[in-house]
Amino acid sequence: MSTVAELLRQSSQHLASISPTPRLDAELLLACALGCSRTHLWAWPQATPEPHQHERFRRLLQRRLRGEPVAYLLGRREFWSREFEVAPTTLIPRPETELLVEQALSLIPLKSRWRIADLGTGSGAIAISLALERPLTHVVATDICSQALRLAKSNARRLGARNVAFLLGDWLSALAAQSFDLIVTNPPYVAAADPHLKGEIRFEPAIALVAGDDGLDAFRRLIPQTKLCLKPGGFVLLEHGFRQAEAVAELLARAGFTNIVCHCDLEGRPRSTMACLAK
Ligand code: GLN
Repeated sequence: MSTVAELLRQSSQHLASISPTPRLDAELLLACALGCSRTHLWAWPQATPEPHQHERFRRLLQRRLRGEPVAYLLGRREFWSREFEVAPTTLIPRPETELLVEQALSLIPLKSRWRIADLGTGSGAIAISLALERPLTHVVATDICSQALRLAKSNARRLGARNVAFLLGDWLSALAAQSFDLIVTNPPYVAAADPHLKGEIRFEPAIALVAGDDGLDAFRRLIPQTKLCLKPGGFVLLEHGFRQAEAVAELLARAGFTNIVCHCDLEGRPRSTMACLAK
């Protein structure tokens, strides 16, 4: 029977053909199959897994080699230092979306009782992170997909976020008469013909990624709606593609927003835009 060290070496070699992080993937999948931590693998490289664990690892490895994202195989992904449950009904939270959380937190005063909405919450990563960092705020998270909303609720419960409510609906339709200090969203913004959609991303829900021919359809719909649900002086904060900053700023300006500011991600690419509704 192969040892942990041998399994890791062989599987990383196979994974190198499909993944930029073959060793990490192999460790995460083996730890999952053995029901232990990665640290445990490093501490016991000569251990020989049981046949049923070996089989479990083999099956995970096969799925990974077909391109399935590690986060779906493990059923979880870390975001803003917390573990979120994820499933193929939701987008896998991305590191670049942590920028959105960072921008939102820089706006929300520490002890504020702001009302915040997160549109298209998916796994709930943005809404729950904000709710936990600013426990006196009230966060409302919406999603059009009931399975996603169930997962988001379960994440909120497990992570102890009590100040977040979940509503089923298309963008702001569930929020009718409510008004917010901040509306934040990571909507779908990929163009339908983007070649990027053929990669690993094909396992993620198209509804959370694709927004028409130019990737701007969701912004066209939701920007005019956000205006109706913001308090005067309220903010909107949007994640977008790195070539969309100008188009998004134009849609915001046309809808009457002011103080439009774009922020870059860690790679220096324009990635999110903030704007204010005049008082
Ligand atoms: N940043 C994601 C990607 O390019 C897209 C996320 C989105 O459409 N909201 O993979």
